[in-house]
Amino acid sequence: MKTAGIKTTPRPICAHCGKQYGRRDVTTEAARWHGRADEPPPYAGDKIVTSYRYHGQSATHYTVNQERFEAGMHSAFRTLWDGKTWITPYKPFCTLRCALDYAREAFRTFERRRAIPETAAEAEERKLKW
Ligand SMILES: [Zn+2]
Repeated sequence: MKTAGIKTTPRPICAHCGKQYGRRDVTTEAARWHGRADEPPPYAGDKIVTSYRYHGQSATHYTVNQERFEAGMHSAFRTLWDGKTWITPYKPFCTLRCALDYAREAFRTFERRRAIPETAAEAEERKLKW
């Protein structure tokens, strides 16, 4: 992956299990050109090209989004990423499973704390307050 000097944001880390999670929020861009198959026009945008896939050479003319392309044109697809956006539907957890495990552990900890009887000093303090 060519980062072109863009500072990238590392994958987030799950608040519960500590594993990295999330996938890059990418878009796809088509490149079309005449000439040699292995000489596509260089990418001119400000994103990171995370993958490049040559599609082929058209035998006939065709139209995409009202743009007409002649026969014999090469086409390829580039996957682009801004270097920082991750898709993280369960942030700050990697999965719903992890969020549930975390919630259950938190609940157990809370219940345990409530179950501990108060000390004599704590009982005394409570009496003074009320
Ligand atoms: Zn996790």
